Amino acid sequence: MKHAKVLILGSGAAGWTAAIYAGRANLEPFVLHGPQRGGQLTLTTEVENYPGFDHGIMGPKLMEIFEAQATRFGTKVFQTWATEVDLKKRPFTVRTATEGDFTCEALIVATGAEAKWLGLPSEMRLRDAGGGVSACATCDGFFFKGKELVVVGGGDTAMEEAIHLTKYAPKVTVVHRRDKLRASKIMADRANANPKIGFVWNSEVVDVLDTNGNKRIRAVVLQNLLSGDKTEMAVGGLFVAIGHKPNTDLFVGQLELDEKGYLVTQPRTTYTNVPGVFACGDVQDSVYRQAVTAAGTGCMAAIDAERWLDLHGGAH
Ligand code: NAP
Repeated sequence: MKHAKVLILGSGAAGWTAAIYAGRANLEPFVLHGPQRGGQLTLTTEVENYPGFDHGIMGPKLMEIFEAQATRFGTKVFQTWATEVDLKKRPFTVRTATEGDFTCEALIVATGAEAKWLGLPSEMRLRDAGGGVSACATCDGFFFKGKELVVVGGGDTAMEEAIHLTKYAPKVTVVHRRDKLRASKIMADRANANPKIGFVWNSEVVDVLDTNGNKRIRAVVLQNLLSGDKTEMAVGGLFVAIGHKPNTDLFVGQLELDEKGYLVTQPRTTYTNVPGVFACGDVQDSVYRQAVTAAGTGCMAAIDAERWLDLHGGAH
């Protein structure tokens, strides 16, 4: 059994920032890096909006730097992930996939969220190759200047992405599987009123085509769900906006979740409903979901944990 003063679950911007701050507070944190070392940023290409990198930086590289900075201050990294937690009493217990059980005095949950994808092999291949398939217009929209784009989804995120993308694209087509939007009226009205946005109803993207050997998207195949007809639409980019899923399955029944499955934190803190358990990053944020906001809440979680341990014992 390995024992940590502070155990951090997750290795995205939130987890590493929590580790940097906890390390500098001499709390000798442990990080379980989770199934996706580096988190969602390792699925993006260039990050141009992280302050301090005026010429941009590749997402995976940014996470390598975060990790190096965390280990410099004494963080111990374990290449495994939690499969079960027991938060009923301190020390908390965390069972892992490959490294046995851990105990800890304070737990920082930074397990993040995942964009939902359509699940098409061609979509995954082009996403991983940086070939014009994305789930984040704020992150990647800039790279699609002058290109005609498709956004999949009918919710607020899809409307928001489509509206944002019209800053760069001459035309954005929203493809929705029904003939009615799920989005709020205000967002739907805004999208409808935008002359650059068009809609294809009752349709799904069933394949993504690339230029020969170029690993760059050239078209999507749409299928009308009423007629079954398939058509090809030439596009310069595909944005999938069918929702996000926070990685909170582990905590069901132990930590308070909101109706969308995100961890609930007390306003302006990272305190969850269990004393000694803190949450930061996208696992508790359905609104901003940016690397810099995740890092900000990671810092908050480490400071909250440090102060809490000072009051309740376990820091030494
Ligand atoms: P959402 O409301 O769950 O909408 C997801 C959309 O994607 C739905 O239209 C759904 O179709 C479609 N969809 C789901 N799976 C699909 C699939 N496999 N293939 C094709 N289409 C699929 O998710 P969201 O838009 O991300 O919003 C999440 C929450 O955040 C909402 O409460 C929203 O109000 C909030 N939000 C608010 C704002 C804002 O106010 N500015 C911005 C973003 C998000 P169906 O409609 O047929 O189910």
